[in-house]
Amino acid sequence: MTTTYRHLFSRTSLIFWLWLLSSATFATIPVQVIDGTAVKLEQFQMGYFVDPTEKMPFSEARQQVFEVSSNRLSLGINANTAWAKIELKNTHSSTVKLYLHDPYAYHNHILELYEVVDGDLIQTRTLDMDRRETLQWMYRGSAVFDIALPPKQHKTLYIKSVSFSHQWFTLNIYDEDQSKRALLSLYTDIALLVGMLLALMIYNLLLFFSSRLREHFFYACYLVSGGFWIALTYGLLANLFDVYGTMTLKWHLSLGAMPIFLLLFMIHIFETKKNYPVEHWALLLNITLLVANSIYGLFDIVTALHYASTLAAIMMVISLSVTLSMLIRKHPMALFFLLGHGLFVFFSTLSVLFYKGIIEFNYINSHGVGIGIMVEALVLSLIIAYRIRLLENLKIAQVELKLLASTDSLTQLFNRRYFSNEANAILEKNKRAKEAITVAVLDIDFFKKINDTYGHGLGDKVIIRVADTLRAQCRRQDLFARYGGEEFVILMPNTYLNEAYTLAERIRQELENVVIPIDQQQSVSFTVSIGIAEVDTETPDLQAAINRADKALYKAKNNGRNQSQRFSL
Ligand code: GH3
Ligand code: MG
Ligand code: MG
Repeated sequence: MTTTYRHLFSRTSLIFWLWLLSSATFATIPVQVIDGTAVKLEQFQMGYFVDPTEKMPFSEARQQVFEVSSNRLSLGINANTAWAKIELKNTHSSTVKLYLHDPYAYHNHILELYEVVDGDLIQTRTLDMDRRETLQWMYRGSAVFDIALPPKQHKTLYIKSVSFSHQWFTLNIYDEDQSKRALLSLYTDIALLVGMLLALMIYNLLLFFSSRLREHFFYACYLVSGGFWIALTYGLLANLFDVYGTMTLKWHLSLGAMPIFLLLFMIHIFETKKNYPVEHWALLLNITLLVANSIYGLFDIVTALHYASTLAAIMMVISLSVTLSMLIRKHPMALFFLLGHGLFVFFSTLSVLFYKGIIEFNYINSHGVGIGIMVEALVLSLIIAYRIRLLENLKIAQVELKLLASTDSLTQLFNRRYFSNEANAILEKNKRAKEAITVAVLDIDFFKKINDTYGHGLGDKVIIRVADTLRAQCRRQDLFARYGGEEFVILMPNTYLNEAYTLAERIRQELENVVIPIDQQQSVSFTVSIGIAEVDTETPDLQAAINRADKALYKAKNNGRNQSQRFSL
């Protein structure tokens, strides 16, 4: 035997082991002393005993060994019926009125309170969530029992709690003033959580109605089911509408609806149908399983809820795998999804461990799923924001593309196609008003020679100079464009032939005086010829008018160039 083992069995160690054994099983439950000062017992020691038969009468249950524990308990799904035992002693000289609270009573099926003084049972009360006549001790979602403690009395309270599924409860003891305060401050945190989810939901519904993108709709549905489940399971619904008992059991199916909407959201956000067929079918298969279980739950909720945890595990594996696959394929939204979903899985795991009674009762563990939903919803809303930005950029790009397709890159003037569309639209609009509309065609004289002598670069400069002059000289209503190589066209609405001639001449003269320097010694001047024709307002035809203006231009060229000519028959 090694020294360590020998030490374990030495006499002093034996006493220690016996002490440990006795303290674990036979430890006495500390007495809560009430001495006339304010009573606010939210952290104290009580005893608990799980009745595996679920049928033990009080007389038998009180004989059992109660384990010492905190006043906050989570005993898991196999502890359907649990007993708590609290020792109270009033050292004060007058009667004290106390209030025993169970703030999570809405979550239970039955609560029974037994009061024992000197070994005698003096009062019994039964609160059954399904029996209206017993609900006098329910205050919204909490159970509140009043307890009188005469001077010097030692009273033992036994509380039997029967749960629908997970056995977790808290027992607090207050005086009248503290009792009121405790009831007032309940559920503000849950209301805040649900309020945030509701605001996000409304925002996404509005986005859906304006954009018709289905991911917003599914995201809103996911938020509704998540928000509803949080309000239900954390007592907000019980608190607001006095709903609890068997009737609310089926409502827990909302937790099953949440992953269905989340997966539908994934399908749309990652566009799996179009781009990733394997992932798409995996998600669809998962949705089918979840829908089948939800439908089954309508008939047998207990079994459905039993399968729900297995399905939730499958769902987490599939959704995380798809997200990882998206991450590998460098999908821009995968990281957000992984983060949001990862946080949800993390907090939900805490919650599952809490429900099973494995980890301690604290705020985060007991509200794990709710916190997980909230955090995930917030991170996923970043995806929505990202998508909106993508769509905005796409829209801007489309506008830019349209502009690019309608302008000429050298001069930034409209091109021939844009001019034709716009000009035809103007003619169409003018059909009823029948105002005079005139077209002018401008062509640079001997342009080939400019190109040949000074090079294409200088030719381009000349073209740009003509465009600048058109921009400066044309009026607001005029539509002008680069029609071809060194030809330009101007449509002048509400303008007679002679007015158009004046404008054309002004442009021509302006250009005649332009001097483009080449170097210190040399510079270039050039001239243009312009042909002008009125549009026939009876049968407006743009091409016919341009052809006539071209004829006038031909006349100007033949006449010696550097002039404007009006079309005449
Ligand atoms: P006319 O006085 O009869 O108009 O004689 P022209 O030499 O100007 O003859 P025309 O109008 O047929 O000349 C067109 C020339 O314009 C041919 C082509 O090389 C040149 N050109 C067309 N587009 C461009 C351009 O973008 N840049 C430059 N530098 N030259 C161009
Ligand atoms: Mg030409
Ligand atoms: Mg020319």
